[in-house]
Amino acid sequence: MTFRATVLTLYPEMFPGALGHSLAGRALDDGAWSLEAVQIRDFAEGRHRNVDDTPAGGGAGMVMRADVLARTIDAASPKGDDRPRLLMSPRGKPLNQKRVRELAGGGGAVILCGRFEGVDQRVIDARGLEEVSVGDYILSGGEPAALVLLDAVVRLLPGVMGNEASGTEESFETGLLEHPHYTRPQEFEGLTIPEILTSGNHARIAAWRRDEARKLTAERRPDLLPRSAQPVTK
Ligand code: SAH
Repeated sequence: MTFRATVLTLYPEMFPGALGHSLAGRALDDGAWSLEAVQIRDFAEGRHRNVDDTPAGGGAGMVMRADVLARTIDAASPKGDDRPRLLMSPRGKPLNQKRVRELAGGGGAVILCGRFEGVDQRVIDARGLEEVSVGDYILSGGEPAALVLLDAVVRLLPGVMGNEASGTEESFETGLLEHPHYTRPQEFEGLTIPEILTSGNHARIAAWRRDEARKLTAERRPDLLPRSAQPVTK
């Protein structure tokens, strides 16, 4: 089964963008996944093909119209298409590796990219869109967020990563941030590689890495540790 991504956007020329290169690009060429970028404006009506209008209740900016978006969604993802329908949105649930892994295990995703102030609430409700955020900051549009989501998903698809092991030992996969890495040269600006890493003792190296990962996580992201291991506050 090929992972099928359909992106609904006012800027289809932004795709595949970064995903046309390196791992994801090669996987796209090899057919490990497919990508279709649909122009929302093609589903707008009238001489001006308006996709947005002023916000009900007043205020700054413009809102994407529910009717135009619904027609786009219905054409790109007709009844029977059981791929999840995502809306990139700063109000959404923050994306994490667990959700990325679930998505990678499915048949694909339909991804709506917002612009302007956002999207009429009625199309979110009527088409059951799952709002997904890529972080607590505001982008000018959903397209870079969709690229981030797809990059994270595609690298997990079967056969995409050369070294399969590196997909499961990374930050978040173990519930911890990853240990530090080193490579040649042995000495860099007077700094050497921790001796244990050149000892050849694989058990001790593994223990050192686990230890470093735990220390780093406690320091930087204590929220990732099991509750029992979290520092007591208050
Ligand atoms: N007025 C909105 C922000 C709109 S930004 C608010 O205050 O919540 C325009 C579009 O960019 C959004 O519709 C969404 O599709 C996208 N976007 C912006 N920030 C994002 C984020 N952190 N994660 C995912 N999508 C985001």
